[in-house]
Amino acid sequence: MRKLWSGSLIVVAVAVCVPAMLSAAQAASASTEVRVTYVGNAGFLITVGDKKVLIDAMFRGFPGGYKLPANVADALQNARPPFDGVDLILATHNHADHFSADMVRRHMEANPEAILVAGPQVAGQLSAFGTRVVTLTATAGKAATTTQNEITIEAIYLCHGVFPAGQKEVVNYGYVVTIGDVSFFHMGDMDPDTVGMGTFRSYGLANEQLDFAFIEHFYLAGTYAAPDLVAAIAAKYIIPAHYEYTTVPMDRSAILRTYPGAILFAKELDSWTMPNQ
Ligand SMILES: [Zn+2]
Repeated sequence: MRKLWSGSLIVVAVAVCVPAMLSAAQAASASTEVRVTYVGNAGFLITVGDKKVLIDAMFRGFPGGYKLPANVADALQNARPPFDGVDLILATHNHADHFSADMVRRHMEANPEAILVAGPQVAGQLSAFGTRVVTLTATAGKAATTTQNEITIEAIYLCHGVFPAGQKEVVNYGYVVTIGDVSFFHMGDMDPDTVGMGTFRSYGLANEQLDFAFIEHFYLAGTYAAPDLVAAIAAKYIIPAHYEYTTVPMDRSAILRTYPGAILFAKELDSWTMPNQ
């Protein structure tokens, strides 16, 4: 809508005609810009109209490995554009390539509107923010849901893999996020073999009519290709994730051979706008 009203009187006249031709839902989605900005690794900024969600975007990485560019990290922890006015922060799990409590703390101090939603291992590190931190507890086959700042978040437990005896499991949640009539899914680090396709299908993602899904790149091509998993997610657009830290490097051409419409980013802060429906 913003774009239509910014033009001349002729453009305004066109805008007035729109409700007569489209249903209310169609008009709403046609006027809502949906944009995905690549932040780094598995981290993205999702903008739907005036709502902003950061997922797995604030992290410091493992020693010697990939780090967010300094300007990106700086903008994140000071809540500066494009990371100003963030409504919701999500983190899939407590691993250093997905989450830094210190960066999230700084961001939440700089932006008093931001709410963090996560599992106990992540949320427990920021409990000083009181009601601005919402802890969801999901278990195998049983999702947990909350609505914050008019954004609905469904957390589903998706096992990260088998942890060696004596090592505590780092609990991974995938998230289905719904903002108005737009919905998307981020799987975090999920091991489909441990989760099992039966359990995965029981979450009913195919019924969610997802607009886009962030899927670890190695499930989209090569040795670890998981077409059943991709089919069970059934998103309109596939956004490969986890650009860094994987033993098998991201193979862009192999992904595009199988999923020609996959959305890939050249560098941090590049963004993609979802075509109007
Ligand atoms: Zn991980």
